[in-house]
Amino acid sequence: MAPIEHISDTARWVAAYRAMETERADAHFRDPYARLLAGEQGEKIVRTLPRGMSSAWAVIVRTCVFDEMILQVVQTQQVDTVLNLASGLDTRPYRLPLPASLRWIEVDLPDILTYKEEKLADIKPACSLEIVKMDLVDVTSRQALFSRIGAISQRVLVVSEGLSPYLTSDQIASLAQDLSTQPAFRWWLLDLISPFALQRIRKLWKKQLGRGRFVFHFAPAEGATFFNPYGWKVLEVRSSVEEGHRLKREMPFAWFWRFLVKIFKEKQEIFRNTYIFALLEQI
Ligand code: SAM
Repeated sequence: MAPIEHISDTARWVAAYRAMETERADAHFRDPYARLLAGEQGEKIVRTLPRGMSSAWAVIVRTCVFDEMILQVVQTQQVDTVLNLASGLDTRPYRLPLPASLRWIEVDLPDILTYKEEKLADIKPACSLEIVKMDLVDVTSRQALFSRIGAISQRVLVVSEGLSPYLTSDQIASLAQDLSTQPAFRWWLLDLISPFALQRIRKLWKKQLGRGRFVFHFAPAEGATFFNPYGWKVLEVRSSVEEGHRLKREMPFAWFWRFLVKIFKEKQEIFRNTYIFALLEQI
């Protein structure tokens, strides 16, 4: 059996990276549930996927940066609701210092959320938590969900971490449009890969891709400004390679890439934008 049989297995995969970071003496974050949630399958994916181990830095850096940005927006913008799309095995409602009054809503495919509910049944989240089992490409269901949340919230931060590459450009544009029909949905934090990264991923994992919706599609050449026509402007963009340097969790041979772009200056932006984290605001 292939290590990734279904798109939701990617949630176990990234949880395994969070477990690896948690177990370091100098960990940037501690996710006490990551090892339990990743399970044997998560570990197997890390072990067997080509460059599985050396890809850890990207998820660890993403977790650190999303933690920082979520807390910053929640604390400074009086956010009343966080809507986490494709939440997978993320445990922020259990591990971050969130206000008890905050409403946190997790949305993902049914099986992975049922698995997570069973594993975390006895753990109490820091804020109120609602779990919605839904396929986010089901337009009618998601529009109904967004309308319901829009009606009960004033200041919503939408988070989608590790979702966008798995959707097509049309699917993500339509999602962006649906989100922007709700005035309360003020901010959206997401990650984006570049066309350069997409090319490398497709080559590296060509044998693994294609099973159970594990396919990489979306990699906009224009980066986060892709979302402008759909009602979103860019507030902040952070580069994973720069953040990796700051956090001392760099991609393998980052020093070599840095050396190369010093010589080939025109490649600097390609390197910087390989994988980015973007905070958008509704226009
Ligand atoms: N955000 C989580 C994290 O960072 O740990 C999970 C990221 S995981 C790489 C991708 C997640 O997207 C999986 O949990 C998968 O089930 C979810 N996903 C992919 N397509 C989806 C869809 N159409 N509807 C709902 N969830 C989806």
